[in-house]
Amino acid sequence: MNKCWTCDNSKTVGNPNDPEIDCKLGRSIFDSDTCDEGKNPVTFDILRYMKAGRGKVTISNEETGNRYTFKFSNIENGKMTFVKLLTGANNESDYTYVGVLTDNGIKLTSASKVTAEAPSYRAFNWVIRHLSTLDKYPQVKVYHEGVCGRCGRTLTTPESIKSGIGPECGKRMS
Ligand SMILES: [Zn+2]
Repeated sequence: MNKCWTCDNSKTVGNPNDPEIDCKLGRSIFDSDTCDEGKNPVTFDILRYMKAGRGKVTISNEETGNRYTFKFSNIENGKMTFVKLLTGANNESDYTYVGVLTDNGIKLTSASKVTAEAPSYRAFNWVIRHLSTLDKYPQVKVYHEGVCGRCGRTLTTPESIKSGIGPECGKRMS
């Protein structure tokens, strides 16, 4: 089914005379730039949060229903960040090693347990490569899990919940 990009209405409510004008706001399905309702609500700096090395991020695609959770850990004082994928029922412990985080996505290594064809791997790298244009893809949602990406403590101030980084850690990060 073809969902409107701006207000999430399906085509069935559309204008029968113009199948592209199917948004309840009367806008084209290709017109996501002008509709605030359809903007991707991601508010935090995703790559910065991941590189901070203590957080978890869930990527979901509401069109396909696919959803993946990734966990990050740093070595060498944050010079390198490992990425693991949630692969079991326990979301604290059931993680499988995927690879090393880079600015272009995950780099697989000889220890990787996930292949380049895995949907989880492809979804992750797609998000990293579309970071600057994510607001054009409102069906793709990226969430941090509510803890500080740098120290792992629960976030409570509204500003920190938005950014994913606590106030003290924010001061220590460039
Ligand atoms: Zn912190």
